[in-house]
Amino acid sequence: MAHPVTSHPIFIYSPVFDNYRFSHDHPFDPIRIRLTYELLRASGILQDHHLVDPREASVAELLLAHREDYVEFVKTKGSTGENIYCKEANRFGLCTEDTPTFFGMHHSAATITGGTLLGAKHVLEGVNNHALNLSGGLHHATSGKASGFCVYNDLNVAIAYIRKHTDLRILYIDTDAHHGDGVQFHFYDDPMVCTLSIHETGRYLFPGTGSVRERGNGKGYGSSFNIPLDAYTEDESFQYVLENSLYIVAEHFKPDIIVSQHGADCHYLDHMSHMSLTMDSFRFIPKIIHKIAHEYCQGRWLATGGGGYNAYDVVPRAWALVWKEMADVPSGQVPDELPGSYLSLVRQWTDEPICPTWMDHGKDYNSIPRREEISDKNKKSLIDAMYAINSGQIGNNFFANRIVE
Ligand SMILES: [Zn+2]
Repeated sequence: MAHPVTSHPIFIYSPVFDNYRFSHDHPFDPIRIRLTYELLRASGILQDHHLVDPREASVAELLLAHREDYVEFVKTKGSTGENIYCKEANRFGLCTEDTPTFFGMHHSAATITGGTLLGAKHVLEGVNNHALNLSGGLHHATSGKASGFCVYNDLNVAIAYIRKHTDLRILYIDTDAHHGDGVQFHFYDDPMVCTLSIHETGRYLFPGTGSVRERGNGKGYGSSFNIPLDAYTEDESFQYVLENSLYIVAEHFKPDIIVSQHGADCHYLDHMSHMSLTMDSFRFIPKIIHKIAHEYCQGRWLATGGGGYNAYDVVPRAWALVWKEMADVPSGQVPDELPGSYLSLVRQWTDEPICPTWMDHGKDYNSIPRREEISDKNKKSLIDAMYAINSGQIGNNFFANRIVE
């Protein structure tokens, strides 16, 4: 992408991220971050000067988006790893099957939040500034409750920080398979924070929210957008919905900064959702977000990880593509074959079959018989979600010109 580069993007990384681990067989596995790092290093597209160490967020920083009693509990009893406090912990959404407590929980969760906050500060410093914290993206946590593997909501803390210190209009984009409920509802009344979540319909999937009718509240009405997609949605329909909605929302909202969550669980080889995206979409998502960041936001772009439960085969490739886009690595510079040194490293952790190329090339892909029906339904959801903009209820009539058949 042609734009003047006045600052290089940063990749926030520390082996400390490995410590955010609920148990050895819990599906939320920090190996994803480590392997993404190793893949990028082996490919020669992540250099020393990109790397920045996170520091732990202070309690005062966590309180930008969390309740004091919650932080206090997580920091003390919640971090002992002893389940004698479970009755109390349940009140805070902890000690559940999804989100158990573990030893050192506060330190590791606060370091993730500190990483995203550091990214926000870097992005605010100048133009064309991008930052990536793949340990972040914990979009389900609320101010007083853990939820869906998320203890502290690093996104909310970072967005609240930007709100407190600037007048920038913030566009949050969430392409995790699960609805970005924690971020949406935290800023539901705030017209300066616009959320766009594209996810598998909540009919059968956690957290169940994210219908097109959730549009914000009070002054924030018209700044929450949700496009629930049908199960088994494939690349073409997903990319159509993403590109159109993102342009419509960006043109309507006119953001100054983008915060994006890059859950990789919409991939067809991820077993925690029912979506059918290939790596082609995981190349497309950061590309279109990057474009919007430069067109509307002087390049201000903070990106995080998120869900993604095929930890060895899928997530490292999907997340490495976010960095590849962010760092403007020219296509063709990196061969499609993954580096041999990386593949043998992965073998230290798993015997599962691993795709040896960046792209999937149809490996184990079963095409979906109801493709047309699903695409039609998704298009209808897109139109419903954009209705308020289109009908002039909340602004211009850009929509009519944008959707391209
Ligand atoms: Zn850029």
